[in-house]
Amino acid sequence: VRLLIVGGSDAGIMAGLEARAVNPSVEVTLVVADHYPNFSICGIPYWISGDVADWRDLAHRSRSDLERAGLELRLGERAVELDPGEREVTVVDPSGRAEVLRYDTLVLATGAHAVRPPIAGLEQLGPTDGVHLLHTMDDAFALLGDLERRAPSSALIVGAGYVGLEMADAFRRRGLDVTVVDALPQVLRTLDADLSALVAAELDVHGVVLRTASPAKAIEAEGAAIRLSGPGVDLRADLVLVAAGVRPNVELAHRAGAALGAAGALAVDRCMTTALPGVLAAGDCVQTHHRLLSEPTYLPLGTTAHKQGQVAGANAVGVRRRFAGSLGTQVVAVFDLVAARSGLNGAEAEKAGFDVATVTIETDDHKAYYPGARTITLRLIAERRSGRLLGAQMVGAASTSVAKRIDVAAAAIAAGLTVSDVADLDLSYTPPLGSPFDPLQVAAGAWSAGAC
Ligand SMILES: Cc1cc2nc3c(=O)[nH]c(=O)nc-3n(C[C@H](O)[C@H](O)[C@H](O)COP(=O)(O)OP(=O)(O)OC[C@H]3O[C@@H](n4cnc5c(N)ncnc54)[C@H](O)[C@@H]3O)c2cc1C
Repeated sequence: VRLLIVGGSDAGIMAGLEARAVNPSVEVTLVVADHYPNFSICGIPYWISGDVADWRDLAHRSRSDLERAGLELRLGERAVELDPGEREVTVVDPSGRAEVLRYDTLVLATGAHAVRPPIAGLEQLGPTDGVHLLHTMDDAFALLGDLERRAPSSALIVGAGYVGLEMADAFRRRGLDVTVVDALPQVLRTLDADLSALVAAELDVHGVVLRTASPAKAIEAEGAAIRLSGPGVDLRADLVLVAAGVRPNVELAHRAGAALGAAGALAVDRCMTTALPGVLAAGDCVQTHHRLLSEPTYLPLGTTAHKQGQVAGANAVGVRRRFAGSLGTQVVAVFDLVAARSGLNGAEAEKAGFDVATVTIETDDHKAYYPGARTITLRLIAERRSGRLLGAQMVGAASTSVAKRIDVAAAAIAAGLTVSDVADLDLSYTPPLGSPFDPLQVAAGAWSAGAC
């Protein structure tokens, strides 16, 4: 069996490894447009900040690990045409030489492109002008090269999503003056506005200037500086990073007739199969099954890409497996604060037809008598009548184990638990780390007290 995979990041590599694990005789070839197979692009902000000293450490696995696992890697080769009828993919190597590769099964794991928002002049500017996008290792090399070569003292970040905020943190650690600009009135729109205000306050404490509700409309080079302007904004900086989200990279498959679904991502079923014969797809290029919503959504996350890749790899070699679904569980560290969510927020839940009640509490993360207790703010969203937990959001200091606590909430949501089930969970307790009732259970108690 010849399995061809296009893309060598989270989804593509997991598909290849899983296929080999399930069927060691399968021939797996990966066509990878760049030279960085299985690199953790999630780690780029921490290399830029200096927390991770060497970019090579960002590799989940080395090239030789992957080859030892039986994956043939064709690096620097781009798939330019797919003929699903003939089961052929045309690839072009860096010298421009084209070759046709035949497959029995194909997995598309082409990921996503960084979005270039409609800002006049943006198309004309690039890394050599000090204007950067950040999605690939090559983007990261261009950015770090610029930081080292020109030693800019100020940066403008367009986009206050999690990547923009991680990069604000990274740039501050490198000593830059940082301004974050976003068209929306809040940072981190995955959180409700009042919780995102806690993140905005943390940015302020660390000297990041925030310009929310400020759509950038034009960008131009002005001497050695870059000027960004729009209604109510006229800013200059030595460097600009555009972190405005991603869009699925679907051109290859779409040209071959693949159907598009949520957010223009490839339409797949839960086995990660497309409607094209013998073609599966996974990761940021596909739509995502959501555990709580009745229709697919688009949630481009590394954790999802890994799991979908595994499912695609197993199905590619004939073992039927279904992607269990996503809850959009996400966590981000911004300076000394951690913000997280899982499941639906109140508005999303209502849009999906749920009648919900919401509770928000502030409580200590551990027993107050033990030094270092810090406040954790926690919101639960649950179906009013049944009490079924539908969503959670949390913000707390880095020491408050927000990541652990959101994962407990994610597990509860996935299992269909009610808030009173959560209150009854046998969770761990020791005074330096928690309380007999974990903050999640304090919130569950408050929800029950308020909703019943
Ligand atoms: C800065 C940053 C931080 C992030 N942090 C987090 C985080 O903390 N947590 C989290 O869950 N997610 C995070 N993400 C998102 C996560 O990295 C992505 O969801 C994940 O990498 C998607 O993996 P993928 O394999 O689907 O696609 P991608 O990583 O986009 O990889 C696509 C692959 O396809 C190849 N390719 C594309 N087109 C072709 C072609 N025509 N021919 C050959 N090869 C091709 C590319 O070279 C690449 O190998 C972050 C992303 C960024 C940019």
